[in-house]
Amino acid sequence: MSEQNPFENSRKQLRKCTDILCMDEGIYDMLANPMREMHVSLPVRMDDGSMKVFEGFRVQYNDAKGPTKGGIRFHPDETVDTVKALAAWMTWKCALMDIPLGGGKGGVICNPKEMSDGELERLSRKFISSIAQIVGPDKDVPAPDVYTNPRMMAWMMDEFSKIAGRNQFGVITGKPLSIGGSLGRGDATARGGLYAVREAADDIGLDLNGATVAIQGYGNAGSFAAILAKSLFGCKIVAVHDRSGGIMRLDGIDPEGAKGHKANYGSVFGFAGTEPISNEDLLELDVDVLIPAALEHVITDMNADKIKAKIIAELANGPTTPEADEILYKSGVHLIPDFLCNGGGVTVSYFEMVQNIYRYHWSEDRVHNRLDAKMTNAYHATLEACKKHDVNMRTAAYVVAVGRVVEAMRDRGWM
Ligand code: GLU
Repeated sequence: MSEQNPFENSRKQLRKCTDILCMDEGIYDMLANPMREMHVSLPVRMDDGSMKVFEGFRVQYNDAKGPTKGGIRFHPDETVDTVKALAAWMTWKCALMDIPLGGGKGGVICNPKEMSDGELERLSRKFISSIAQIVGPDKDVPAPDVYTNPRMMAWMMDEFSKIAGRNQFGVITGKPLSIGGSLGRGDATARGGLYAVREAADDIGLDLNGATVAIQGYGNAGSFAAILAKSLFGCKIVAVHDRSGGIMRLDGIDPEGAKGHKANYGSVFGFAGTEPISNEDLLELDVDVLIPAALEHVITDMNADKIKAKIIAELANGPTTPEADEILYKSGVHLIPDFLCNGGGVTVSYFEMVQNIYRYHWSEDRVHNRLDAKMTNAYHATLEACKKHDVNMRTAAYVVAVGRVVEAMRDRGWM
């Protein structure tokens, strides 16, 4: 397998789409580059009294359809190219979900697992104050992502409000409920993905009641996916894996129990009544639904031909390389591509923004129903493009999303 660069991969995916839509080179160039990229140095006082300088980025990819929107990741392996790719995917995601937002993403190179609460608070506050000039409710609205959470969003909102001199709840989403968060935001990524899985299962004639599911990644998205797959549809979760190890049980794992075990011991590994399974073996299990819910590039040309799942639901961003995409398409796997499958998170973030503007709270049922409608529409728009252009689901999702972004750019007179 060649060294994978996520930004180059996102451009390869885009190129396929602009070719199909016969767009000229100038349009490709406009879509293949972020409109703004900010790099910041973040000096933070550590608990031992020393100063440590972290590196952070915020990329605003395209705001033709509205303020840029996207999460902030805290990860030791973060790179600006990953953030650029993720910002591009946010642009296509918001367009595909048909919400009036553009795409952005942020990242800080750090290992939150080795930092105290105080250090994380100082880093969160430093990061938002360093990018304060370019973010804001009408400019760019961050949210949680890999290894960031509602608590950090609260600190960032508070810091930004201090700079602005007034409460600015709308600067960030994924906040706690007490300060403008939305009901239903916590499990929105997983729930939205499962609504898409329901539609996909219907398409291929798969009964989800009793269907087997394997999940790679047991953070927010992965653990809620396990819990909801069981409670909404009666699926059987046969294997899950996190950063430190994997577990398998053919009669079905109790997803809540596995989550509790991870909360107590730092990993699902060792949960009573299960056997260990490696990450590689989990991906190649003979299951109905495989859910990659961790990081990029786990399904590659090295393992794609060994995948036996009928449906792959990409809750992670960028889990499949372009080479693997070709292989999976040929072998008939029904793949729900990342920026369709995990669009539920940003969709409920958008609902949170709307509620903040109106200073009003929606009921959980209202959030779920509206999320279901958005996911179902996005899934069927993609499927239609898939049939119309005879392309795989990822390229079809690009065709729909890029078409909408280009329409907005044209209407604004950018081209
Ligand atoms: N981080 C999530 C994503 O990748 C949510 C972004 C948001 O809510 O703005 O879609």
